Amino acid sequence: MNKVAITACAGYEAAQVQTALKEALDLIGGLDWVRPHMKIAIKANLVSMLKPEAAATTHPALLQALAQMLCEKGAQVTIGDSPGGIYTKVYLDRIYAVTGMKEIAKNTDAKLNSDFSVKQAQFPQGKVNKEFAYTGWLDEADAIINFCKLKTHGMMTLSAAAKNIFGAVPGTVKPEYHYRFPEPADFADMIIDLNEYFKPCLHIIDGVVGMEGNGPTAGTPRPIGVLIASKNPHAADLLSASLIGLKPQEVPTLVAAQRRGLIPQTAEELEVCGIDWKKRIIPDYQLVKAVRSLRFNRGSEQFFGKISAAVMDRALASKPVLTPAECIGCKECFKVCPADAIKMINRKPKIDRKKCIRCFCCQEFCPKGALKVQRPLLAKILVK
Ligand code: SF4
Ligand code: SF4
Repeated sequence: MNKVAITACAGYEAAQVQTALKEALDLIGGLDWVRPHMKIAIKANLVSMLKPEAAATTHPALLQALAQMLCEKGAQVTIGDSPGGIYTKVYLDRIYAVTGMKEIAKNTDAKLNSDFSVKQAQFPQGKVNKEFAYTGWLDEADAIINFCKLKTHGMMTLSAAAKNIFGAVPGTVKPEYHYRFPEPADFADMIIDLNEYFKPCLHIIDGVVGMEGNGPTAGTPRPIGVLIASKNPHAADLLSASLIGLKPQEVPTLVAAQRRGLIPQTAEELEVCGIDWKKRIIPDYQLVKAVRSLRFNRGSEQFFGKISAAVMDRALASKPVLTPAECIGCKECFKVCPADAIKMINRKPKIDRKKCIRCFCCQEFCPKGALKVQRPLLAKILVK
């Protein structure tokens, strides 16, 4: 389960993506498992009402190429996601339009999800997430394919395969999860539990153009030129992290997956097939680094002692900081904050640092990128 395919894909022209996607899928066993009338859910990343060029969402050219391949095999394909915020037909229709999904439905036999039911799962095997709400459309599927985007992330440092499955949680319920799992280590375990519960049969990462900097919605598009595919989300993420210069210990979901023995310690230990990935490493990829790096690395508590680890956490913790000139006073941050830590004063958000649980939802959902993850000077000195 440590096999990962990586293929070159320089752009989103139809011919380019078809070739790169077929190559990647063939390297990990192809699509011979797809049977006529099989119901397949493609869980895309449709995080926000942003056009494909913003590099925040899975590119429609890739989703269309996959949908086409599956439909040609007679599968019944549905594409969907539950971004943050309300989970209704009206809202998702607007997201589908802006992110290019409606074109896919026009050009192929694939459908866009229109089932907005919410169900409850019992998962006693889960490490931290034994009972949870999820989007009901996934229940209809005989198989789930996870098709995500390679991005930086304020809270989790990396948004790729494993993190994308958080979209199985209805947007309206997501703030509650941030409250239940405020620590990145626990949040990561929750994400891994979700992956174990839904067990997508395939994970594909759109790394043709990734997002760097202030991700996962307000960063800068950065060409990486690759597609990554694997049956193991954490193996795909380990390779993705290595490509953009993130160490595994800087990514809470990778640390949690390693603790559970789901992946090796380094990308070098993966069974990578396709192009030479080491030649694709981007040394100057702009990262959101070391968010509470001591907290999710629990071994550090033994080293520093619990109390001093907590003090160090506070001193080293990254936090959302406003660039007032970029703020339009839309209140999205105020509405999305699960800790009620934001007050609007003179049409600008004021964050109560004592209440803030550093979930970075405000940074993620600010439509102008006016909130940015800031690392204290001490963290920059101590945690490289
Ligand atoms: S202020 Fe931002 S980071 Fe802090 S709890 Fe609210 S949404 Fe999360
Ligand atoms: S979401 Fe962004 S632009 Fe809107 S009020 Fe908050 S900081 Fe300002």
